[in-house]
Amino acid sequence: MTAPKTYKASLLVAEDEESLREALKLNLELEGYEVTTVDNGPAVIKTVKNEYFDLIILDIMLPDMDGITVCETIRMQHNDVPILFLSARNSSADRVEGLKKGGDDYLTKPFNLEELLLRVDKLVTKNKRIKLPQAIGDTYEFDGCVIDFGAHECIDKNKQAQELSKKEAALLKLLIEHEGEVVSREQILQIVWGYNVYPTTRTIDNFILNFRKFFEKDTRNPKHFHSIRGIGYKFTK
Ligand code: CA
Repeated sequence: MTAPKTYKASLLVAEDEESLREALKLNLELEGYEVTTVDNGPAVIKTVKNEYFDLIILDIMLPDMDGITVCETIRMQHNDVPILFLSARNSSADRVEGLKKGGDDYLTKPFNLEELLLRVDKLVTKNKRIKLPQAIGDTYEFDGCVIDFGAHECIDKNKQAQELSKKEAALLKLLIEHEGEVVSREQILQIVWGYNVYPTTRTIDNFILNFRKFFEKDTRNPKHFHSIRGIGYKFTK
């Protein structure tokens, strides 16, 4: 059994007050996050264009462009990265403005570090669930096998053509889109089976067993389709 891969979430901290910026970086790194820092508004926009972040901690009073305008600009670029605003001002108008322009949460300075870390964790966890899958085409090749998602067919490890059910094709697609990541049973049930039907875990297990028969050279030592006990399933190429 393969242990679930630990994923280091990456955060962008935009804060012009140097001591606070460094303190945030240090404490977030201690929590296991990958942290990038910037000290002005335009730098945030430039950085998020080039890199993926799980969350931005965005000070509102930033030089050259304020945090609310930065947030608005990021949203206009169809980037849904969670944004946690920090502000020295404590007015509800500010809070409403920040949230209206696309912010996800808001903390007023001075804040309690523990509270900030809790909110960060919550936003990052929520985002992970809806993280965009890797785009894959209509067909996918790995280890000498080919899957045709549109035609619901595959070429198995013995070069034999096999039919796939609609749900088998959907589950394969979901796992492959999240290659190297654990997909939880809840996600599988929601995406493949829909909200109103509740197959048992055994149903999913049977699908995985079938996939192993099709694609694994040694079904007892799977290289591609992994069950992570109590969590979910993972595909590796
Ligand atoms: Ca500031």
